[in-house]
Amino acid sequence: MGIEVKVIDLGERKAKFILSGVTPAFANALRRCMINEIPRLAIDEVHFYENTSILFDEQIALRLALIPLKADPTGYVMEDECTCEDGCALCQTTATISAEGPKMVYSSDLIMGDENISVADDRIPIVDLKEGQKLLLNAIIRLGTGEMHAKWQSAVVCGYKNVPHVSITDCNDCARCVSICPRDVFRLVDGRVMIGDDINCSYCKLCLDVCELQGIVIEEEPDAFLFTLETDGGMSASMTIAYAIHLLKERAIRLKSALESLAH
Ligand SMILES: [Zn+2]
Repeated sequence: MGIEVKVIDLGERKAKFILSGVTPAFANALRRCMINEIPRLAIDEVHFYENTSILFDEQIALRLALIPLKADPTGYVMEDECTCEDGCALCQTTATISAEGPKMVYSSDLIMGDENISVADDRIPIVDLKEGQKLLLNAIIRLGTGEMHAKWQSAVVCGYKNVPHVSITDCNDCARCVSICPRDVFRLVDGRVMIGDDINCSYCKLCLDVCELQGIVIEEEPDAFLFTLETDGGMSASMTIAYAIHLLKERAIRLKSALESLAH
């Protein structure tokens, strides 16, 4: 059986899809790739020139680092792969904030050095400046991956489960399963218990406990996985999936050629 993808739900930041015809190892490789290995840009270093706000420099730097940035990661290279000595236009860019209270400083107050970079959300609060308080800083943006630090993580929620199948073998329509199931897998239609969307089943097995006739069977498809993905908004859900598959494919090609060179 070949690999198949069935999209259940696809939004800008969220995706739900079934990947079938793959091993658990492949499903896990794709999950890890989406979380850990997609290169992203994030604020990595902050130089404070003035900070008379209520927050310490370190607290503001941490907040800035966790602001998701929207950008094409292929426009930059990792600093350790760059030919320069201590940072150049290929491996880093900057952002600045210059604000004076009274004012709430938001993520939208970051002035980007590269016009192709923007913040994913405009209204992320950074610090509330009171009358006379000032914040003046210069931030350095670098490329990284989720493996290095969570600030570079693209998929913030990413998991999978084997696709569930629920069936009824024996039933007296007592409907206890209908009321106990937290995912509405069962429905009552004209006094009869029916299976609704069994893909929502979370394998909690509460229905098995309440069924007097032991007439419910829950099975899982061993080679089909239901993925749930949510990104931080820096990259769309579809781009995250496509990029992870591209990275996996590249790695497989590198492994193949390495093995071939060993054979000669
Ligand atoms: Zn460089």
